[in-house]
Amino acid sequence: MTTIKHVLGISGGKDSAALAIYLHEKYPQIDFSYYYTDTGKELDETYQLLENIEIYLGKKIEKLVAHDAKASSENPFDFFYKSFRGYVPSATARWCTNMMKLQPFEQYIGTEIPTLSYVGIRGDEDREGYISKKDNIQSIFPFRKNIWSQDVLHKLFHPNNKEVVLDYYTSIFKGEKLDKVASVLNSEITFERHQRLATERQIKTKLNGLLDLGTSDFNHATFQFLKGTKYPLSFEEDYALLDNEDVLVRDDVFRILRESGVGVPAYYEKKEYQVDGKKGEYARSRSGCFFCFFQQKIEWIWLYEQHPDKFKEAMKYENVDEAFTWNQNESLEDLIHPERIRQIKLNHLERTNRQKSEDSPYLMDILDDTEGDGCVACFV
Ligand code: SF4
Repeated sequence: MTTIKHVLGISGGKDSAALAIYLHEKYPQIDFSYYYTDTGKELDETYQLLENIEIYLGKKIEKLVAHDAKASSENPFDFFYKSFRGYVPSATARWCTNMMKLQPFEQYIGTEIPTLSYVGIRGDEDREGYISKKDNIQSIFPFRKNIWSQDVLHKLFHPNNKEVVLDYYTSIFKGEKLDKVASVLNSEITFERHQRLATERQIKTKLNGLLDLGTSDFNHATFQFLKGTKYPLSFEEDYALLDNEDVLVRDDVFRILRESGVGVPAYYEKKEYQVDGKKGEYARSRSGCFFCFFQQKIEWIWLYEQHPDKFKEAMKYENVDEAFTWNQNESLEDLIHPERIRQIKLNHLERTNRQKSEDSPYLMDILDDTEGDGCVACFV
């Protein structure tokens, strides 16, 4: 019998940390392997979080580095930064994620062992995780009502597979419920390349239609369907998460971190700032490299004022003559001009006053509109 591997990547962010704790508690029978893909450019709080999780889990978190950078005496980011000739990564040229997150992960898994990769995207988020193109890796999303990845749903709802799915439901449902399943499976779906958005919409409708009839029934139907595929779960007799109906949202994540004693990374805690005699609050909204280009202007100011040494270090990577800057059209040197700082804080204050939700001690609540942006490999 083929043994499958269960892996969980701890990004250094709150959601993957909470997922590790949650699964460890709820499924002690599953032997999880934990890994972390290091860039060498995280804040100290992230490394502290990793240490706390290791203590809690009683298990080592394996630190992964891409093969190319392993022999180097430099940290992974500096190694690749030089090999890209000082070209700083950006949202449109994200070599950092490829070289320091995805490559080491796929090298670690290899191409042989069927592997389930657990991802901490929450039930209150509307984004998809990274889906490996390798046949032996399958992603699972335990915090969501729908634990399956988009590629699985595409196959499951393909008209060619309708009968297999219906057969399973016929074994558990009768009458009106079974008619509903048939109507969901018979509803229109297109797989034309130029109609991708329509396909996603139709899949969502079918998914919700079946989930509404029972989450665990849908999971069992999907598991049954996977048996006829080459997905890692096809090698399993049973799977404990099929009956999991939990949906975990942001408050649950903070609660899990606090109650476990692992703690919430300090950079999520708000700090006060002053501007034009008014008080505002700022923090960092997510984990990842301290110079990440996905961060907002106010987070850069937070870095400048709360971790000036790291800000200075970030400045060193910029080459203004070549337009290699972390932010488009603005160097970090320009960003910390006193008038620019004032303007950024005033903009932030105005926005937060508009959006503020009352009780949360975390800036996440007012950065909620941007939390889904960025890199799922770094910020989950
Ligand atoms: S945190 Fe940002 S800079 Fe660092 S690897 Fe991820 S996307 Fe790149």
